[in-house]
Amino acid sequence: AFAELTGPAAATFDEVLRRNPGEPEFHQAAHEVLESLGAVLARRPELADAALLERLVEPERQLMFRVPWTDDSGRVRVNRGFRVEFNGALGPYKGGLRFHPSVNLSVVKFLGFEQIFKNALTGLGIGGGKGGSDFDPKGRSDAEVMRFCQSFMTELYRHLGEHTDVPAGDIGVGGREIGYLFGQYRRITNRYEAGVLTGKGLGWGGSQVRTEATGYGCVYFLAEMLRVRGDDLMDRKAVVSGSGNVSVFAIEKARELGARVVAASDSAGYIVDDKGIDLNLLKEIKLDRRGRIAEYADRVPHARYVDGGSVWEVPCDVALPCATQNELDGAAAAHLVKHGLMAVAEGANMPCTPEAVHVFQAAGVPFAPGKAANAGGVATSALEMAQNAARTSWSFADTDARLGAIMRDIHATCLATAAEHDREGDYVLGANVAGFLRVAEAMTAFGVV
Ligand code: GLU
Repeated sequence: AFAELTGPAAATFDEVLRRNPGEPEFHQAAHEVLESLGAVLARRPELADAALLERLVEPERQLMFRVPWTDDSGRVRVNRGFRVEFNGALGPYKGGLRFHPSVNLSVVKFLGFEQIFKNALTGLGIGGGKGGSDFDPKGRSDAEVMRFCQSFMTELYRHLGEHTDVPAGDIGVGGREIGYLFGQYRRITNRYEAGVLTGKGLGWGGSQVRTEATGYGCVYFLAEMLRVRGDDLMDRKAVVSGSGNVSVFAIEKARELGARVVAASDSAGYIVDDKGIDLNLLKEIKLDRRGRIAEYADRVPHARYVDGGSVWEVPCDVALPCATQNELDGAAAAHLVKHGLMAVAEGANMPCTPEAVHVFQAAGVPFAPGKAANAGGVATSALEMAQNAARTSWSFADTDARLGAIMRDIHATCLATAAEHDREGDYVLGANVAGFLRVAEAMTAFGVV
């Protein structure tokens, strides 16, 4: 059940429901943004002219395609590929590819929709898009992943280009997959078009800090949320869900800033290490070997592994949900609040349910939505594109400093926008409205297109 909307936002949401049956994640993401827009449309109704809202919720283009590939035993497999080119008003469509069995059109559309506002918030020239496949890389050999990526790109390449659509990674798509995808793009097109994909290896057009950027950026944002409240991360107890790229580097940066990260998870269960997670061990198990997080407790005697269950059972000062959508629900939020939670920053996309967000906000716990807090990844992708266009590469320190500045900027923009709309400290409203205004101005300037 969705909270009632008013005015043009309500009519637009009805249209979303009517046009997109069976897409609950997309409905959820659209509703959240439209709810925030109520505040700005009441003051500036002209922003809804020329069916702007209706155009905003309708992707410019949605691609769905067959991806046949052969597994190691010689059996032919068929997956479905997606790319939703949602909004190109601010630049080439930009957003990751997700390879996970849960991927469907609804998931790709919610991610693509979020990406529009996230990318706008970075202040850089990137539009919003997302893609992926229901392919499950778990247990697949490198050769199988390569053949899948080659088949995926054999269809997708015709829709891409450094000025058209620039994918990157997301869940299930990291450096290995970007390598196979780039190799196939180059082979088919005979163009060394480095700016067509981001998240590339450092030796072939990749950017320093891109691997770390989403996690680092999320913690920079969290540190900023605490700083403006006269606080910091020193000796704070943190829980980070997930144990992929985002989580691992969020843990790394949180520790650097003095936090003690006591729990992390994967799809099977979670670990608790009250002394603080041994990051090198976690990296070795999860990133280098793609193993199970349960192994951590086998190797660290004082740590414990909980099979199944939710990592949000572990009380903490700061929560960084970095796993996947709707992983933290209203009950988990109430439990965390009851045990003294101070702040939440989303490293994943939409990991907190609307009920959870409501619980945090009602309790006065500062809450940063993913489209603001995890924008560091795509922002650094845009920095990668800038380096590719200039045929240059920047140092780690320089790139990291730019990332830090972008995150502080997004934080300030969210707070200022919330304050202007009499919603002091509401990062959800701030992010949605600030992102929307930038896109709406460009769309209005372009006329009805
Ligand atoms: N998948 C990331 C995100 O959710 C990064 C996208 C990109 O770098 O293009 O923002």
